[in-house]
Amino acid sequence: MDNKFPGKDISEEDLKSKFPLAAKKDQNHRSKFIVSGVEFGGNTIPIFAGPNMVESKELILDVAKNIKSSGAHFLRGGAFKPLTFPYRNVKYNETREDGIKWLAEAKEKYNIPIITEIMEEKYLDLVSNVADILQIGSRNMQNYPLITACAKTKKPIMIKRHYGSSLRDWLGAAEYVLVEGNEKVILCERGVSVPHTHRSTSRFLLDLQVVPAAKEVTHLPIVVDPSHATFWRPWVRSMALASIAAGADGIMLEVHPDPENSAVDPLQPIDYSEFNKLIVEMNILSNQINNRKILSD
Ligand code: PEP
Ligand code: MN
Repeated sequence: MDNKFPGKDISEEDLKSKFPLAAKKDQNHRSKFIVSGVEFGGNTIPIFAGPNMVESKELILDVAKNIKSSGAHFLRGGAFKPLTFPYRNVKYNETREDGIKWLAEAKEKYNIPIITEIMEEKYLDLVSNVADILQIGSRNMQNYPLITACAKTKKPIMIKRHYGSSLRDWLGAAEYVLVEGNEKVILCERGVSVPHTHRSTSRFLLDLQVVPAAKEVTHLPIVVDPSHATFWRPWVRSMALASIAAGADGIMLEVHPDPENSAVDPLQPIDYSEFNKLIVEMNILSNQINNRKILSD
């Protein structure tokens, strides 16, 4: 194995034959593209913020207003959700078509672009009408027919890493988008599953090493989601800052006005004031260490 590519499971041959489009052409090769006025892979570090789930119109409008005023670039929130358990109640239930409509209202009212998850191809028109970036959730990272259908829309696509997948398999999923002639692909690390984490409720471990590892082999931008990875609010700030230090090209954060009463994953969102403080800290850090900015001057 060549010293330039010490990745454990990626060979020089893979770069040529398995993911020729995702592989870097030379050492300095970095994808740069603009999504709804926001540059990826350049000197800005886009921030995606919002609730886990688009719970109500009131919630998503309030979050949009607050995160936008703090400097977030994209509003996140799931209307179609891969909920871990099938039992639904008033709080723990997808808002689906309504949720997409409320995201559209928030986008229009606060002039903020949207990233939201697509779960099934039959909703592709509905979701891609509103989404500026289509999110492929970690559970669907290997749903190749869904990824191919999304790629054909030519919408930017963010692929969350499956919590059990290697970098090699993740790049294979990205290649499914690129091979359709869609070059706007973003990777997102959201924690991997390991037998022993640091808290009984912490299901995942943030794999920050995958940021420099990915950058050795691919030109695609890589976002980190410390909210899903830690599953624990008190650790989100330090892991978000560590992600910037590791070279992340974007950060996804769960933000909720009343985190403890979030309908889904109430242990992980931060509130508005924590978010407002964190975005300033991330901006200072990224300016200091890699001359990249988050907040406009
Ligand atoms: C999410 O971002 O809302 C989500 C469900 O994430 P993941 O697919 O990483 O679990
Ligand atoms: Mn979630």
